[in-house]
Amino acid sequence: MIQAGQSARILDGRKLAAAMRVGTAAGVVRFVGEGHAAPGLSVILAGDDPASRTYVRSKEAACREAGIRAEIHRLPAATPEADLLALIGRLNDDDGVDGILVQMPLPPGVGARAAIEAVDPGKDVDGFHPVNVGRLWSGERGLVPCTPSGIITLLESEGIGIEGRRAVVIGRSGIVGRPMAALLMHRNATVTICHSRTRNLPAVASEADILVAALGRTGFVTGEFIKPGATVIDVGINHVTDESEAARLFDGDPARIEQVRHKGYTLAGDVHHAAALRRAGAFTPVPGGVGPLTVAALLGNTLTAAIRRRGHPS
Ligand code: NAD
Repeated sequence: MIQAGQSARILDGRKLAAAMRVGTAAGVVRFVGEGHAAPGLSVILAGDDPASRTYVRSKEAACREAGIRAEIHRLPAATPEADLLALIGRLNDDDGVDGILVQMPLPPGVGARAAIEAVDPGKDVDGFHPVNVGRLWSGERGLVPCTPSGIITLLESEGIGIEGRRAVVIGRSGIVGRPMAALLMHRNATVTICHSRTRNLPAVASEADILVAALGRTGFVTGEFIKPGATVIDVGINHVTDESEAARLFDGDPARIEQVRHKGYTLAGDVHHAAALRRAGAFTPVPGGVGPLTVAALLGNTLTAAIRRRGHPS
């Protein structure tokens, strides 16, 4: 519910993601026009995690729309690790495959680390391989993890200055927090990485001009974490199933409460939505903020991988 005193500009991730996808589709057309086969992405989905199935379906649809060939390899949950690694090896050797993505989480007994390290770094469109991690931190050209890369595109396209700003990243995972910090640092922000052992977190966070929350705790970042006017990027995706919690997070927004009643949940981020609306200068809502940028960046990475392997379009 919109109330007096709410001032934050909402950063529309859906709109930017659509524009990114159009840009990638145009790049694919140019690439194919130069005589190349369309870029190809192979996604490995092991097991039957329902959320993973949904993510893979949406990645497949987005690829199709951008003119990227997507191929899904579905493996039973009981697949031995050796079989998964053998499949990755075949995809590495297949010249028609430009990008390989192993959907996480993997079933118990299959090592995520072994799978990530088996992927050819040139086809590692998630940017998780140690070679790409090293390239990212040393400022060399590599493939960059999709969520933080999408966030940088958002900040830049919204004209939010990074250079010289104080940036605080809450969360130090390999897929979001750490690469986010590296990307901000390379753009000359002064970066602090916070985590579960950080002392006096609200005080540290409230020094940030750009605050990125990626910790996986619903509504954890409240008003005291946010410097008035700061840009707040909410990476969290959490299911809120309790009506009173939805009311608290969304200032009694009837649409959210209605969603909990009818769908059984509403999505919320790691940032307290109502508090961010009141204190931030700009912030990404959940849903419709960071989420759509991740898939858009994946398509961009697949085209980039294809261009680097097979030559540049004019
Ligand atoms: P993770 O669990 O791997 O890492 C969480 C990090 O947060 C850890 O480094 C931990 O130290 C830190 N943390 C946990 N509790 C904390 C606390 N109380 N105070 C300070 N730090 C704390 O999570 P992740 O994979 O980085 O994902 C984080 C969130 O982002 C999740 O909600 C996830 O669903 C979401 N996510 C969204 C997208 C997207 O596309 N929008 C992509 C990836 C992850």
